[in-house]
Amino acid sequence: MKSRYSLNLGKPFGIRISVHWTFSLLILWIVFITVRQGLGTGQVLMHILFVLVLFFCVVLHEFGHSLTAIKLGGKVKSITLLPIGGMAHISEMPENPKDEFLVSAAGPLVNVVIAGILWFYIAFFHGTAPEQMEFDTITLTNFPIILLAANLFIVAFNLIPAFPMDGGRLFRSALSMKMNKLKATRIAKDIGQVFAVIFIFAGLFLNPFLIIIGFFIFLGARGEYEMMVYRDILNNYTVNDIILTDYEKIDENETLEEAAGRLSHISSRGYVTTSNGEYAGILTKNAIIKGLNVFGKKGLIKDVMNENIEPVKPEMTLFDVYKKMQMNKYEMVPVKEDGHFKGVLDKENINEFFMIRQAMQ
Ligand SMILES: [Zn+2]
Repeated sequence: MKSRYSLNLGKPFGIRISVHWTFSLLILWIVFITVRQGLGTGQVLMHILFVLVLFFCVVLHEFGHSLTAIKLGGKVKSITLLPIGGMAHISEMPENPKDEFLVSAAGPLVNVVIAGILWFYIAFFHGTAPEQMEFDTITLTNFPIILLAANLFIVAFNLIPAFPMDGGRLFRSALSMKMNKLKATRIAKDIGQVFAVIFIFAGLFLNPFLIIIGFFIFLGARGEYEMMVYRDILNNYTVNDIILTDYEKIDENETLEEAAGRLSHISSRGYVTTSNGEYAGILTKNAIIKGLNVFGKKGLIKDVMNENIEPVKPEMTLFDVYKKMQMNKYEMVPVKEDGHFKGVLDKENINEFFMIRQAMQ
């Protein structure tokens, strides 16, 4: 989720928080629904306020995951808010089952704590007992109790034992303490997909939103399992095993026309760009095509190439590199050792390597 489609809200604890543009659709939808119900401006604003406070709870939930991950040695890049909830981009996740369990549990636990605080407030300070409240619309009086219920709903929903929910991870990490991670993930995937099918069927009769969630769970379960199959194989190899030392080079001051012209004659999926003969960046075929659209044939390579790709080390496992490339949508990464450029790694090469190893098993 790059910042082009998101609004940045700040960077507490070094974690960038952003709101995806689709979030505005959620607000519009709330306005549409409430106005159609004939509610006044004050009421409409109260609903919007509720959603904002609820999403603040979601941010705290993601911070629960993120800060626990950091505490256990992981790295967190950002938290993105989508209309369906929050997403923490944990770039380096603690690998052992116990740590994964703690990181997964910390999110829902935050909502349990919030619900507990709200309960305490309602029980001792609020003045109006829940049985005296009306619930046909959100008011300042029933606000805390509806927020409490919503937090409990977040807990219950997240504890469904299916990826990509926290429950899926909790379940998998609990299983991994007894068996290998691939097998644990396969069991978690199968159970998650059973849930997905139940959601989709229930959605046909109850609420179409459940169908969407069902598909979301189904794909999430499959994606997580595929990731583990990759891990199982690629964890046994390092960058050194498939580093490309025979790559295409092009000077950063050349034109896109030159880069595009040579493309048809080479098998490489991109170039290593150089400045005075030294490594300068990566130029993929996609970048050339985009560059031609923006700058035309006379555009310069240095305006289009990506010089900010974080290099990988030769001894890094292929799975770590693969994850990094997936997360950042890199097609090629430079390999450097002690600051010296050694070669490149191409995502297609990793995929091919994976498929060959898998076929050989
Ligand atoms: Zn969570």
